[in-house]
Amino acid sequence: MHNAAFRASGFPGWYEAIDLPPEALPTFVAAVRQPPWLGVNVTIPYKEQVAQLVDELVGEAARARAVNTIVRRGSQLIGYNTDSAGFLRALREDAGFEPRGCAAVILGAGGAARACAIALAQAGARHVTIINRSPERAARLVAELELPGVTVASAEAAAAACQAADLVVNATAVGMAGGPAPAALPIPLGWLPRSALVYDLVYRPMETPLLVAARQAGLATLGGLAMLIYQGAVAFELWTGQEAPLAQMRAAAMAMVEETPECSVS
Ligand code: NAP
Repeated sequence: MHNAAFRASGFPGWYEAIDLPPEALPTFVAAVRQPPWLGVNVTIPYKEQVAQLVDELVGEAARARAVNTIVRRGSQLIGYNTDSAGFLRALREDAGFEPRGCAAVILGAGGAARACAIALAQAGARHVTIINRSPERAARLVAELELPGVTVASAEAAAAACQAADLVVNATAVGMAGGPAPAALPIPLGWLPRSALVYDLVYRPMETPLLVAARQAGLATLGGLAMLIYQGAVAFELWTGQEAPLAQMRAAAMAMVEETPECSVS
């Protein structure tokens, strides 16, 4: 997606995927302080750790303490989080959903869940409930965020919170190709709300088990690809100072995810 953007804009840059073991992270981030690096995207599971390795956190990254984009300015590293902006833009523009006043449930308590909780609270959601496999991590997240209306649901209250939601966001890695549980649903089928938007941040495959199940239940759905493209566009603009060529980024992202076979749900 970013290489397509570099080609389309004529900006002399390239983008590559680097797979790092945890112990190599500090050395790698230190190397990014020198040219030729413009910056880095950070993905699962390093967003929170990288927040401690940069010199400054800006905007959503400061509140989330999770970084998905590093920008090098001289030898200084600035940490941004473009996930919140990408999340909201996709919600509004691609699903036509206005979060002001809504009751939302976020499944997950990692970096993506943080970004979503901040985005929804700032967009005026009435209530945001966090549900996570490890409840202590959800409780820690809510305590750290200190945002009005953002709470954690106990195991007993989780089903009712989902069923009453206007918006259910999957911010776990469940359903992700190559992830820990590619064929699973992040919540039991019976927890799906009667009428709501189900927004799965997983973008590979485009048709996740949750999206398929939600659509079969007659619910509106939104996949994670639009968010991926919009958060990438913000990162591109931060690195280059140029407007992101969205159409070319979208085409490249679609081609990438279409290489992943669709899931099947029985
Ligand atoms: P993360 O910080 O590692 O958090 C992972 C989350 O998934 C945690 O809440 C974890 O629960 C949960 N989880 C993992 N395996 C699970 C399982 N088998 N059953 C139940 N829960 C499980 O990751 P992240 O950065 O927040 O990313 C989460 C997902 O969002 C990924 O699929 C990622 O691809 C997607 N994402 C998409 C975009 C986009 O642009 N569309 C942007 C960011 C992230 P525990 O706390 O219990 O371990």
